[in-house]
Amino acid sequence: MTTAPKVVVIGAGVLGLSTALELVNRGVTDVHVIERSHPGEGSSGRSVGMVETQYFRADDVEARVYGRRFYDRMAADHGLGFVACGYLRLGSTTDDIASFEGSVATQRQFGVDDAKVLTVEEISHRWPQLVTADRIGGLYGESDGYIDGYEYCTLAARQIRAAGARISTNCDLLGAVTAADGRWKVVTSTETFVADVVVNAAGAWGAIVGERLGAPVALHPQLHGAVTVDLRTPMEPLLPFVMDYVPDSGTDGVYFRAERANQLIAGLHTDEGVHEAVSPDVRLRRVSEDDVERVLTLMAERLNVVDDLTVSGSWQGIYPMSPDHRPIVGRHPEQPTVVCALGAGGSGIQLAPAIGLVAAEAVLDSVPTFAWSSAWAPDRVTAGIPSRPIV
Ligand SMILES: Cc1cc2nc3c(=O)[nH]c(=O)nc-3n(C[C@H](O)[C@H](O)[C@H](O)COP(=O)(O)OP(=O)(O)OC[C@H]3O[C@@H](n4cnc5c(N)ncnc54)[C@H](O)[C@@H]3O)c2cc1C
Repeated sequence: MTTAPKVVVIGAGVLGLSTALELVNRGVTDVHVIERSHPGEGSSGRSVGMVETQYFRADDVEARVYGRRFYDRMAADHGLGFVACGYLRLGSTTDDIASFEGSVATQRQFGVDDAKVLTVEEISHRWPQLVTADRIGGLYGESDGYIDGYEYCTLAARQIRAAGARISTNCDLLGAVTAADGRWKVVTSTETFVADVVVNAAGAWGAIVGERLGAPVALHPQLHGAVTVDLRTPMEPLLPFVMDYVPDSGTDGVYFRAERANQLIAGLHTDEGVHEAVSPDVRLRRVSEDDVERVLTLMAERLNVVDDLTVSGSWQGIYPMSPDHRPIVGRHPEQPTVVCALGAGGSGIQLAPAIGLVAAEAVLDSVPTFAWSSAWAPDRVTAGIPSRPIV
């Protein structure tokens, strides 16, 4: 393309808005985000908002370091709230500790110098309310923290509009056809738009939107929830975000962080396919009694304040998970004028800036910033992958 393309982005969650923001920051202003509800109304407004870099593979770490720095700039320049609560990943085997040491070294390569491996004695000394007898250490990121996904969507939408691009709300993608000139006619519930490139950033609905664009993608959305847990006695010192799950462990685990001295937010997390796939239109309710029970049981094993835990509220949302649990970003192999920005699973807030960057580079056919970005290319999830039954 010799002139700037006309781009339609489907979905105003963190991935669609980060892609649009990256495009306008590169001077591409003929960008139109269409959203069937409002910015942040999907998974992005239902997250716990953790932004951290305590991962193991170099690509996973580099993408998250990029995200951390992006949100630091959004906080400094645009007032995005960022609470640096710290992030502690607990480990129970010597293999875990070896991977933690590896993560610290990898993070250092990308300029993160405050990640460290803590012994259980150091953990207990710092947060005496944590039970560590059955753990042997932890990977700790002192300056990791959380944002509010909904607030980021609102801020990003404001910047995108201020740069001259458009966001249409209450505007549902119904279908799209390519005209004789090779351009897309994007048909929505309100208007028909013309585009050179369409970005599928429809989150858990990405497979449905992919079908409507003739650019199929396999997704396995997972239902997840979070609970607020009140404490009769305020807890000092404040807990960091504690993750009692190690990636690739074949299971899920509990996480919790202090919201304030007398309230924790907690849930069950996995980066793997251990939860069954659900329809993206599954009715979102409060967290089931079974899951609340499981969160409380696992927290009780990890905290010295068992008698004081009361669940005061909960909500559900969807992890838009890909079949291999890795993001799906780049040009679609069968429809190269469709760019996917999908499959962020339970890490979409922290990965959104990197996914937005890779998607924008795909739109513009520009030299990739990340040497590994082809590992996110959609071809691995567009054909021949058996979809698991939707329940
Ligand atoms: C309980 C919970 C806790 C989480 N905690 C964290 C965390 O701590 N850290 C982290 O990094 N991630 C976390 N996540 C994951 C994160 O929220 C998601 O990965 C991320 O929000 C996905 O963003 P998205 O833009 O892909 O999807 P969404 O935010 O769902 O955006 C997709 C948008 O597309 C729109 N859309 C769909 N179909 C159409 C259509 N036909 N036409 C127009 N628009 C359409 C939808 O309305 C929606 O707004 C959590 C998720 C949950 C549920």
